[in-house]
Amino acid sequence: MKCSRCRNKAIIQNPKLCKVHFINYFENKVKETIRKYRLLDRKERICVAASGGKDSTSLLLVLKRLGYNVFALAVDEGIPKYRKQKMKELKRFCKDNKIKLRIVSFKEEFGKELHEVIKNKNIHPCTICGTLRRWLLNKYSKGFDKIATGHNADDEAQTILMNLLKANTNFFFRQGPITGVSRKGFTQRVKPFYFLKEKEIKLFSFLNNIAEDFVECPFITGSFRDKVRKELNNYENTYSGTKNNILKNYLKLKERVKIEGDTNYCRLCGDPSANEECKACSLVKQLF
Ligand code: SF4
Ligand code: ZN
Repeated sequence: MKCSRCRNKAIIQNPKLCKVHFINYFENKVKETIRKYRLLDRKERICVAASGGKDSTSLLLVLKRLGYNVFALAVDEGIPKYRKQKMKELKRFCKDNKIKLRIVSFKEEFGKELHEVIKNKNIHPCTICGTLRRWLLNKYSKGFDKIATGHNADDEAQTILMNLLKANTNFFFRQGPITGVSRKGFTQRVKPFYFLKEKEIKLFSFLNNIAEDFVECPFITGSFRDKVRKELNNYENTYSGTKNNILKNYLKLKERVKIEGDTNYCRLCGDPSANEECKACSLVKQLF
């Protein structure tokens, strides 16, 4: 199989590209998303939500290569073995690429690690972890112009479906390459990998030697996201283009609605919130 742009051997089938042209295609897709949705500016200070995984580490690399002013911010929730290994890889990557890194942890912030609070609790770890990670990223990104996350097309199609299936009307239209309008208390979030497939990021990170392994968090198994992910992958295998169609239609729909931000603020932390206390503060009160 030959590359569709030169005579070299293709390393990916759809699109058919060799190593050089694949990296070129990948970086151009990121540039195009940034340009089309006005995600970033080279004068801005950009905080990349880094986890040590393939997506956020690839994002750090691409944004740095494209000349953006990036810093890495990581949250260590305390997931035995898994996060320690990821933080080790991230530290090495940031050192090699001269990127400043800050690690904040559940232990220092809330007094306990994730694995300590989930024992005998009828609540999935991802619910606690996702909410508190977002809260910490927002807290420690104050002073930056944007938070960039490594969410890809697969993640986004899953999130749209998950919100639909759970009737999360509050969150449904708060997705997309740039989330929400800039509002007091929130650092604006951008997703330069919005239109890249998970397998494309996997290949990019492999070609750039930036992820030692593709091990996933042990808690993903059995989560609602995991179930939706599997179903969506089955669908995509049978009806190619399903994920892309979800994103395309979602963005079309989103253009037509006016999104109202929360006008209340949490009485404990001051973040924008629909209720008197935000979800993060009530989880901390309840579990830590
Ligand atoms: Fe946290 Fe769940 Fe993601 Fe693991 S899979 S890092 S527990 S949100
Ligand atoms: Zn709060």
